[in-house]
Amino acid sequence: MGSSVAWWTLRDPDFTGRVLVIEPEPGYERAATSLTNSCIRQQFGTEVNIRASQFGAEFVNNFRNFMEDEAAPDIPVWSFGYLYLAQSEAMAHVLRQNHALQSGLGVATQLLSPAEIAERYPFYDLDGVTLGSHNAVDEGYFDGGTVFDWFRRKSRALGAEWVTARVTDLRRDGRRISAVMLDTGDEVACGAVVNCAGTRGPEIAAMAGLDLPVEPRKRFSFVFEAEDPLPVALPLTIDPSGLHVRSDGPRTYLAGCAPADDAPVQPDDFEMDWDIWEDRVWPTLAARVPAFERIRLRTAWAGHYDYNTLDQNAVLGPHPEITNFHFCNGFSGHGLQHSPAIGRGLSEMLIHGAWRSLDLSDLSVTRIAENRPLIEPAVI
Ligand SMILES: Cc1cc2nc3c(=O)[nH]c(=O)nc-3n(C[C@H](O)[C@H](O)[C@H](O)COP(=O)(O)OP(=O)(O)OC[C@H]3O[C@@H](n4cnc5c(N)ncnc54)[C@H](O)[C@@H]3O)c2cc1C
Repeated sequence: MGSSVAWWTLRDPDFTGRVLVIEPEPGYERAATSLTNSCIRQQFGTEVNIRASQFGAEFVNNFRNFMEDEAAPDIPVWSFGYLYLAQSEAMAHVLRQNHALQSGLGVATQLLSPAEIAERYPFYDLDGVTLGSHNAVDEGYFDGGTVFDWFRRKSRALGAEWVTARVTDLRRDGRRISAVMLDTGDEVACGAVVNCAGTRGPEIAAMAGLDLPVEPRKRFSFVFEAEDPLPVALPLTIDPSGLHVRSDGPRTYLAGCAPADDAPVQPDDFEMDWDIWEDRVWPTLAARVPAFERIRLRTAWAGHYDYNTLDQNAVLGPHPEITNFHFCNGFSGHGLQHSPAIGRGLSEMLIHGAWRSLDLSDLSVTRIAENRPLIEPAVI
């Protein structure tokens, strides 16, 4: 998010200032951006998230044009789609409602009966499934790591300074932040500050005396190889159990899930729960796709969502009381695909004082103070 905001800001000809990106861990080993599953979907249940994803897909599919650099790679979305499976009338109702919203916004989502799912994807066990929802346009995997690399590289080329340091405090003068303190002992005067600190976003907010209802929540990812690969790419299948799984390569697949208790954790706790693979993930996979009885686990890791406990949606823009302090937090598992739209939006807010290309006001930080959640019914 920090690199996206930096790049979008510097490419705007109306911007006359300077950009400093402060990053304490330039290897990014623990950043959500490194531990992500890097997928994009259009199947959200709120208009602002759908529109942010539509721009995310446009950006990725036209990456070289946006980068304005012949050396930039082609990284189109691998559009195997997401397939939501409903086993209850309540879930089917949500899928129908989302479908109506998505169709109105031009998303190619199709509702599928179990027979229609079986016709396209004969490898599922659909026992108990009553409805599916699938969209194979601009929905699937994209190379988020490369997007991140280019945001960094091009922001530097446009003049952004990057410093290896940790923000330790903010100097607040009334309704403004006037300086940022670093663990190097430096104090940096600033015209505006953007909080892009991921799971440590609440620590930065607290430095200005503000509460941000975001906490680190563990998410496990497992890459496994199938002895008998499936005949077609596996859509990112959201099982009613909460597990999701998708193709990751010709023979490999990626599954993800939350711990059973899904409690907040310490921001530096990345311990893996290996039992969950044997006890929960593998049995659920094999029940849904019987060919996954014969698989080998290749690798696994734990990452953190920056989980917004109010509504699991992003928290964006200037704080109403400290007007040059901008939030870019709380992405709760769908931030990477929105990073082009969010970076563009925040740069517009910083330079022009308004959301211009896409109205992101539904995600504004003011809803936190007003306790006005924006419920996203299609959270993964
Ligand atoms: C397992 C998993 C799967 C996911 N899957 C998807 C997906 O399929 N699609 C999708 O769109 N999104 C997905 N996400 C979410 C997505 O990866 C994140 O929303 C996104 O990467 C967040 O980017 P960020 O820049 O806000 O945070 P981060 O990448 O975490 O970066 C925050 C940075 O802030 C720095 N920082 C922390 N404290 C300070 C400080 N005091 N001073 C200065 N810097 C500081 C950190 O060092 C870090 O580099 C997933 C996340 C996880 C964990």
